[in-house]
Amino acid sequence: MTRTTPPRPLDVTGAFPELATMSRNVTRLHPRSGVPTVEDSSVGGPLLWPRDEPWPTCTRSHEVYEVVELEAVRAWYHIAVARWSRPDDEPPTPEEQSIFDRRTPRETDSPCTDPVPLLPVAQLYARDVPGLPVPDGTDLLQILWCPFMDHDDDIPAIHVRWRRADRVTALLSPPPEPPVIELDDYWPAPCVLHPEQVTEYPAPTQLPAAVSARVDAWQEETGHHYTEFAVAPGWKTGGWGVVSSDDADAADPPRCECGTVTEPLLTVGLSEWNEDNEGGWRPLEDADADDRRGYPPVGDPTMINLGGEELQIYYCPESYEHPPLTVRVYRTL
Ligand SMILES: [Zn+2]
Ligand SMILES: [Zn+2]
Repeated sequence: MTRTTPPRPLDVTGAFPELATMSRNVTRLHPRSGVPTVEDSSVGGPLLWPRDEPWPTCTRSHEVYEVVELEAVRAWYHIAVARWSRPDDEPPTPEEQSIFDRRTPRETDSPCTDPVPLLPVAQLYARDVPGLPVPDGTDLLQILWCPFMDHDDDIPAIHVRWRRADRVTALLSPPPEPPVIELDDYWPAPCVLHPEQVTEYPAPTQLPAAVSARVDAWQEETGHHYTEFAVAPGWKTGGWGVVSSDDADAADPPRCECGTVTEPLLTVGLSEWNEDNEGGWRPLEDADADDRRGYPPVGDPTMINLGGEELQIYYCPESYEHPPLTVRVYRTL
C-alpha cells in the first residue's frame, strides 16, 4: 500500500518566501510492521548478504553491565504482537512467561569485548527509494549497527554497505548474531517500507540569521512551531538532516575527514507522526489508525528508542569510500 502525506496545513513559504529556494526532497520511508525478505526494502529485515563476504563486527570496547538476550527480545516481540489480538486479561502461558523473564535485562560483569556481530538496521533498494544516493553500478544500501551504543566515545558504530543486488548469488544464511544486546530498544522490529518523496525545509539553526530571527518572532506571535511544518518526522533518507533547533553545534552536517561537508543519508527518526502536534504528517491511509492502541504502535512500528534522540547518518559526497558519520540530536520544536 502506498502512503500519502497530506499537504502541510500551513505552508511555511507563505510566511517566509525565501524558503521557496531552500526546499529539498526527502523520502519518508514509512516503515510498517511486516515480514520483509532479503528481496525487500526493510527496517529490521534480513539483508541480502553474500556467503563469501565477512559479516561486519564491532571491536570497540563496551562498558555495558546489563544486557538482554536477543533471541528472547525477538521472541517476546512476536508473542506481544500475537497477544494483542487476544483478550486483555488472558494470563501468559508458562512458555510466554519464561520468554518474558529471559528478556528482562540481566547483569553481566564481562564488558563485551569480543567482536560483536552487528545488527541489520535497514536495507534500501534504489528501485524503491526515490533519490537514494548509490555509487555507480550499485542499487542496494545496507545499514547495520552495533547493539551496544555505549562506546567510550559515545559514538554509535554504524556500518554502511552499498552493493549490486544481482551480484549476490549465494546467501549468507543464517548471518551471525550477537547473543546479547544492550537494550531491547536497539533491536529494530521487522518492517516493510512504503517510501514517499516529500518536501522539507531547513531547521531554524540552518536558516540565514535574518530569516531565523523572523521565524522566532513569528513563532512568538502565532504560537506555531516552524519545525513542525518544515521538517519531516520519522525514518527518512535525504532532506536537510539536522533538526536540532537549539544546539549550534548540531546546526550543520558534519565534515568528513577529507574536509567535505557530508550529506544526509538516513535518519532514524522518532515517531512517524505526533498526534498532538500540528504538522499533519500522518499519512491519509493511516487516518483511521488508533496510534494509542496496538502492538507495535502504528506510529512507532520499528520499536527503536535511542533515548529520545534522532540518529542521523551522513555520507561523503566526495567518495562513497569515506567512512559515514553520525549525529545524535534531540528533535526540538
Ligand atoms: Zn560496539
Ligand atoms: Zn570525504
